Amino acid sequence: MQAPPTSYTGRFAPSPTGPLHFGSLVCALGSYLDAAAHSGRWLVRIEDLDPPRAQPGAADQILRALEAHGLYWHGTPKWQSQRHTLYQQALGRLTKRSLLYHCHCSRAQIREHGGHQNLTCRRRKLTRGAFALRFKCTNDGQSFTDIWRGNQYQPTIEDPILQRRDGYYAYQLAVVVDDIEQKISHIIRGADLLDCTGTQLQLFSALGATPPQFGHLPLVLNLQGQKLSKQNKALPLDNSRAGHNLCLALRFLGFHTPTALNHQPPSNIISWAKARWQRQLDIRDRQLH
Ligand code: GLU
Repeated sequence: MQAPPTSYTGRFAPSPTGPLHFGSLVCALGSYLDAAAHSGRWLVRIEDLDPPRAQPGAADQILRALEAHGLYWHGTPKWQSQRHTLYQQALGRLTKRSLLYHCHCSRAQIREHGGHQNLTCRRRKLTRGAFALRFKCTNDGQSFTDIWRGNQYQPTIEDPILQRRDGYYAYQLAVVVDDIEQKISHIIRGADLLDCTGTQLQLFSALGATPPQFGHLPLVLNLQGQKLSKQNKALPLDNSRAGHNLCLALRFLGFHTPTALNHQPPSNIISWAKARWQRQLDIRDRQLH
């Protein structure tokens, strides 16, 4: 077992599939404040694993928007597209432990069979060919405690894909390998990722690492009740209204912000919030009011 991280290191890990929108600002701000209030480090990692989905220029736009909102990171941002060697090494370690197998089942087939434990592909030897590479989770599922949501239990249904059939490394592998390598102690992110936390914890353990603590923030919903996202055309943040955006995001995160704060420079707004962050949150996903 690797020694547990001794100090707080948090991170924000956007995929560059479009510019930052208000929902991602809430996540960035929540993870930034939690790190800052614990005198921790806050890292930024660009999750550009999937070139067909990346939007040219989006990563730079995201970094500029973070700066415009006073969210400055420690060190230099890491780019997943430059870290393939680490992912390959991790696959090698998991192969040695017989924890990987090739699979061509669809999500629907897996659910139809009531989970991977009932399918034969887990017992298949690794072969060459256009198969996805999956990680064998335990049949018992996974328990963990979320900072805001308390005790959670997630049954194992679908073993996660770690390498896609087209050869690209998958999010579930890269995110865990990077969080281990960057010694992340706290992962504060949106509730849309709550469901994959159990399998990620199993990967931490299979790779011999002490897992970080997880906290999942509520999602910002649009008028149709959907999560704000690049797919449903959430508006990009307007950097010229950074103070206003930050105050709205702070209200979403449970702060009562004085009106005068809107007109302050982003750095003053961030300092104001950092001094008052107490992890008090309404965890319900909701629209902005
Ligand atoms: N890259 C993922 C996203 O933009 C976030 C990954 C994570 O925070 O674990 O949704």
